[in-house]
Amino acid sequence: MTIDKERLIKEFMTLVSIDSPSLLERKIGDYLKHKLEELGFTVTEDDAGSKLGGNCGNIYGFLEGSTDMSPLLFCVHMDTVEPSGGKQAVLSSDGMIRSMGNTVLGADDFAGIAALLEALYTIKENKFTHRPIELLFTVAEEIYCKGAKQFDYTNIMSKEAYVLDLSGDVGAAAYQAPSILSLLIDVKGKASHAGFAPQEGIHAVQAAADAVAKLKLGKIDDITTVNIGLVQGGLATNIVPELCTVSGEIRSYSHKRAMEAAEEVRKQFERSAEAFGAKINFEVITNCQAYETPKDHSVVIRFEEACRTLNIPFSLLRTFGGSDNNVLAEHGITGIVLACAMNRCHSCEEYTTVEELVRIAELTRVLMTSEVNAG
Ligand SMILES: [Zn+2]
Repeated sequence: MTIDKERLIKEFMTLVSIDSPSLLERKIGDYLKHKLEELGFTVTEDDAGSKLGGNCGNIYGFLEGSTDMSPLLFCVHMDTVEPSGGKQAVLSSDGMIRSMGNTVLGADDFAGIAALLEALYTIKENKFTHRPIELLFTVAEEIYCKGAKQFDYTNIMSKEAYVLDLSGDVGAAAYQAPSILSLLIDVKGKASHAGFAPQEGIHAVQAAADAVAKLKLGKIDDITTVNIGLVQGGLATNIVPELCTVSGEIRSYSHKRAMEAAEEVRKQFERSAEAFGAKINFEVITNCQAYETPKDHSVVIRFEEACRTLNIPFSLLRTFGGSDNNVLAEHGITGIVLACAMNRCHSCEEYTTVEELVRIAELTRVLMTSEVNAG
């Protein structure tokens, strides 16, 4: 065992104590820049912060390695979800690490960051031969990967990536993730006095309700879900509502199928609006695009071998959530998303364990030093 457990725990606890909500990643960004420079990385920060209205950009680091090995990219995100203000990690004697109970822990994604740093310390200390290593610490991942979308990938050398950002047992990896679309719909009717002249109005809420009632929602086929999550309309009890705004989401393992499902929603809203004499404005935003990494790809094989080396059960799964890996895939980088010692994420019950942190740090170290090259 080469991992320094005490150092790893201390690093994780320190990271957790740094507040880093989406678009306010400056403190953690500066902390990580300093750490990476100490480790010998060349570090740069892009202008994603100013472009997104945040205070920190994506941080990229490069560490030269053995020239006969292909470079690998490791990607984690620096932001955490709310509630996060003042979060502290509490370590119990049984090795469980939780928040104080009134915030998230931030193991998503600080467990991944701590694992990366510990792997690098270990490599440096032991002077292990390692690959050229590229690191990408993104901002604003929790708000639909906005940071990763701003990054300029033209200078990335790696063809393969490991994104440390998945819940579940260490050893699990996601090879497939969906397209996620947001739907923003305005149903525009006509206001009138509900008592004196209701006949002069066009009821936007009723037109919208008609459309929602007629939509197929939930799991509409084996690979696709449709949801309407938000309906807002009307101004007062005595006014026929002029406007109803409706928003929803579509997920599918097929981007084509997701776009078709969006079109079906649009058509239904058009039919309903027309029946009521209303009009619609329909907008589709692609938050992330589906990908599927072949199970026999070297990026998978290398991870499987690393798990075998460390005697950690390996499993491949599909996730129905997006991550920075969706964005990497769009830019021609083939990756998988690794479970990295985070559990019950996005809740105040979020936790990690010392054992799992050690496992993901070791796995990361093995990946960085593995001989399995890109196929
Ligand atoms: Zn995450």
